[in-house]
Amino acid sequence: MAGVADYSIATLGSHSALQILRGAKDEGFKTIAVCRSDHAFIYRHFGVADEIIEIKSYDEFHKVEDDLIRRNAILIPHASLIAYVPPKVIEDLRVLHYGNRRILFWEADRERQRIWLERAGLNLPRVFRSPSEIDCFAIVKFYGARGGQGYFLVKNEQEFWQKIERVGELREYTIQEYIVGIPVYIHYFYSVIRGELEIMGFDRRYESNADGIGRIPAEDQGRIDVTYTIVGNFPLMLRESLLPEVFRMGERVVRVSREICSPGIWGPFCLETVVTPDLKFYVFEISARIVAGTNVFMETSPYALIKHGKPMSTGRRIALEIREAIEQGRLKEILG
Ligand code: ATP
Repeated sequence: MAGVADYSIATLGSHSALQILRGAKDEGFKTIAVCRSDHAFIYRHFGVADEIIEIKSYDEFHKVEDDLIRRNAILIPHASLIAYVPPKVIEDLRVLHYGNRRILFWEADRERQRIWLERAGLNLPRVFRSPSEIDCFAIVKFYGARGGQGYFLVKNEQEFWQKIERVGELREYTIQEYIVGIPVYIHYFYSVIRGELEIMGFDRRYESNADGIGRIPAEDQGRIDVTYTIVGNFPLMLRESLLPEVFRMGERVVRVSREICSPGIWGPFCLETVVTPDLKFYVFEISARIVAGTNVFMETSPYALIKHGKPMSTGRRIALEIREAIEQGRLKEILG
């Protein structure tokens, strides 16, 4: 029977690679970081990779695929892999891949995301198909995960045209109702092997300049355009009475994923929400893989510690799932 010694865990050296590789080592796997040459020293410095495969640019990722296959590597996806490696390369990957690869394309498409989340019965911010429809405070977002960079707020159509002109290059955008509340990022893990949804923790983001506006006098705040460039994350403990709703939302997302993109979503995923004063969760985005907010729990979150009885990061949880799958002869069920 195969064991962890027969496989390696590999990921691209970026995003949440430290957490993924450290977690894999904790579960007894050999680890591989595929890094841009100028980033390799980070993974050497932290000692999380048994092997570092250097590439000059992310476009060269496909060139190392045979090396990974030879080492029986299982590739763990994250946002940088999806953002930097061309979709066609991801689609055609032959190396073992953890998670349902096709669900990543649902995540990448805002329209499809909406269908998925709506069918799961979640509260979503309204979307304005054209600037003329704007009838409340709205947020203008550009396509492609750029960590909130360049997003702006508008009150009406006129303000929209004024502000979009300043953007310069014309990029695809979406206009969403702005939900006034507080952002809560919910980190889930669905285990195929144990047939159970887990909560890995919650975080909130630290965004520039949105989180800095309160540091200047109120009378001057109106002169500043608010934007949402992510700089870091904070851990968050949620009111315990909100946990049942959190579980219900996650379970519905998993159930609907099986209908829209069989066999559905598994492993880590995140609902990005704003919670209003009446304690409603509005979901403005889903990430169908590990998100960088889990890095605040590189050792563990309190929830994961209680659940597992030992420190458990999302990176380690992935490796634990893979280890249990290998030990039970069920690896195929979690690759996709
Ligand atoms: P990523 O893909 O890296 O998660 P992104 O570039 O897609 O980031 P979002 O996460 O969609 O950006 O949004 C950036 C920030 O804007 C969020 O952290 C949140 O604070 C705010 N935000 C987004 N949508 C809404 C909304 N509908 N109402 C209120 N705030 C919002």
